[in-house]
Amino acid sequence: MELLCVWLFFVTPLVISALPVEPKGDIRKQAATGKFWHVTDLHLDFSYHITGDHTKVCLSSKGANASNPGIFGDFLCDSPYQLILSAIQNIKDSEQKADFMIWTGDSPPHIPVNELSTKMVIDIIGNMSTTIHSFLPDLQVFPALGNHDYWPQDQFPVEASEIYTAVAEYWKPWLNEEALVTLRKGGYYSQIYKSSQTTQSLRIISLNTNLYYSPNKVTVNMTDPADQFEWLEETLKASRQNNEKVYVIAHVPVGFLPFAAFTAAMGVNFNERLVKIFRNYSDVISGQFYGHTHRDSIMVLLDENNEKPVGSVFVAPAVTPIRSLSESDGNNPGFRLYHYDTGCYNLLDLWHYYLNLTEANLKKEAIWKLEYIMTEIYKIKDLQPESLEELIQRFRKPDSIDFQNYYKNYVVHFDSIKGCDGLCKAVQVCSIQYLDRDSYIKCLKMYKLQ
Ligand SMILES: [Zn+2]
Ligand SMILES: [Zn+2]
Repeated sequence: MELLCVWLFFVTPLVISALPVEPKGDIRKQAATGKFWHVTDLHLDFSYHITGDHTKVCLSSKGANASNPGIFGDFLCDSPYQLILSAIQNIKDSEQKADFMIWTGDSPPHIPVNELSTKMVIDIIGNMSTTIHSFLPDLQVFPALGNHDYWPQDQFPVEASEIYTAVAEYWKPWLNEEALVTLRKGGYYSQIYKSSQTTQSLRIISLNTNLYYSPNKVTVNMTDPADQFEWLEETLKASRQNNEKVYVIAHVPVGFLPFAAFTAAMGVNFNERLVKIFRNYSDVISGQFYGHTHRDSIMVLLDENNEKPVGSVFVAPAVTPIRSLSESDGNNPGFRLYHYDTGCYNLLDLWHYYLNLTEANLKKEAIWKLEYIMTEIYKIKDLQPESLEELIQRFRKPDSIDFQNYYKNYVVHFDSIKGCDGLCKAVQVCSIQYLDRDSYIKCLKMYKLQ
């Protein structure tokens, strides 16, 4: 597969040499770079408003005093519409020419179940879909469903439902009929991204990992909810036969949580099965992209012998700044732009943008800034599994500056970062490096003994 990428790398510039490229620098390298946006966890709180009574600023603070509410939001509230608009507007106004966007779910707010309804959830997903489409009418978007994109939240069904049907209507501008069929049936789909720059096909597989999410009571005793595992394996098998590359997108991430010891986001058996499939098809899958934790983290999939890094996994932080009172650190709003090789879809780099919420509220102006460029801040060659594995080895060292930077990015430069060492760091590092149960548990136990 590496050979294929190298071959295309030399061929691609010939194919696209007629396209306009910036005149400065290495033209061949620039011509081979494509870009795509990743936004996630918008969590619109329609009730957000500034009022003297801080317990009434937003329903999502659940009666707690909002900390310092301003027009772009508050760290104890979900996103006001103004914050979401400023993020999408910023993407529109940026000079970055992206080929497509991935959007990994969670549009409704964190409010009590009886304050929402199926109709409200559908309306909110519709509002967010329409907002993105109206600001970026020419951009291909690949969405995925989040655990909040259902009512009651988390309880995704394994057959056709009102919400799957409604979402398929809203996503019609972006998805083809074949994708809409499985979306209506089980909330998942796959679709080819058609690039004008290469004959190599990229398939986006959008999984409904909410079917595997621990709080989902509907699927808890099932082995293959909505037949998604079977469909996934068949899809990957066909991709391998057709020489396609695959990006997997979903909301709830595979692997273990970076902030809670011995806890996977999914049910453990579902996680084990998914990890096995991803290992079996690591020659086909060029990247995995998730949301849900609201924090910025990476994972590296190792082969079954825990020797060779075979997959790069990214969890993007949320646009919503909400945190619960029990959490010591929160996150500023963020979104990101990936750079990839247009010849073989290998991931080259990641540019992460963020909004300093406190500053934006003070100035009454949302200035989104580049937070970091991944290859520069960590001095790595690219985002390939081998490069990420090398970075993790540096993280493991005591007082690693790279890990300190990683943690600042993890909370998206949240104002009062508490820092992370001891058990906090062990949980982080083991979750980055080990995605299956046995090796993760072994890692954490060994780390505690050190
Ligand atoms: Zn969320
Ligand atoms: Zn979520």
